[in-house]
Amino acid sequence: MEIRPRNRREFLGSQPDVDFPPIQNGIDYLLSVTLHLTHGDPPAPRDLKYAILHLQAAVEVLLKARLQREHWSQVFKNPGAATRARFESGDFESCTTDAALDRLAGIAGVTIPDKAVKTLGMLTKSRNALQHYGLTTSAPAVEARAAEVLTFLMEFITAELQPDLRTDEEKLVQRDLAVIRSRLGTITSYLKQRHNEIRADLAPVADSVVECPLCAQFAVQVGFPDPQCSFCHMSWVHSHGLLFDYLRAFDRPGLLTGECPKCGQEEMLRQTRVAAAPADPRTLCFGCAASLGPQIATCSDCAAFYEPGEGDLGRCPRCLALP
Ligand SMILES: [Zn+2]
Ligand SMILES: [Zn+2]
Ligand SMILES: [Zn+2]
Repeated sequence: MEIRPRNRREFLGSQPDVDFPPIQNGIDYLLSVTLHLTHGDPPAPRDLKYAILHLQAAVEVLLKARLQREHWSQVFKNPGAATRARFESGDFESCTTDAALDRLAGIAGVTIPDKAVKTLGMLTKSRNALQHYGLTTSAPAVEARAAEVLTFLMEFITAELQPDLRTDEEKLVQRDLAVIRSRLGTITSYLKQRHNEIRADLAPVADSVVECPLCAQFAVQVGFPDPQCSFCHMSWVHSHGLLFDYLRAFDRPGLLTGECPKCGQEEMLRQTRVAAAPADPRTLCFGCAASLGPQIATCSDCAAFYEPGEGDLGRCPRCLALP
């Protein structure tokens, strides 16, 4: 097993001048959180305890990682008294989560929604109660709160931390996030929470919403050059990247790709399940979201998919129109 760097010292190691934010450390905590939340259904009290403790740790580390991008002194309780030497040795009192939130808004221009701030405050209380008295409130309530915080952190990582990662760091982060995303789909409380949130957004476009190759939820709307999953926040740089991952993840019979008669890309897929009617697979273009009726033929000349009609001689309308 690979040893992950745990603190700044090791991060800085050979590159003393590089300000390396401890994002991997925060994501490592999230790996633990999702592992504990998927141990049982519902999770046992002991799993819930470690899920909450590590979730709180992830919040602190990740918020401060973003703050540190503004300036390393910002993670000190008192930035005015910060010194580089104490920062590098880790020998200082760091700011509270509340202070980190204030500074993110005031200095980094990152506003955290009120609802998330409230949830984070409740998480801190749960953590403190756990450390001193054990789990005293109802387990489902704690689990639901954990799901809310997890939702917030996945958004925060995607929007605030991922865009500026170095390439080598990005690779490691992507790998761990893929594991986390695959687990999100099996955390009951997270499922409920996210589906409630995204239901309204996806309902009007359910005909072009397909399953995410990572979290397996119906939450990716096709027809965009850079599609993303509303459920686990995975995003793809190109629609064909999504199609590639989709084919790898879902090995169903009849999944055949072909050229789309509308946009001309090789991104039309037969037997695609869509959110509107999962039991009634469509032929859907991942590139432009065009869909074809149940009768599909493959053009004998150009191999594009088309809806067959009388006298088409086995050719698509485009090839038929050629002189
Ligand atoms: Zn997903
Ligand atoms: Zn198309
Ligand atoms: Zn053709």
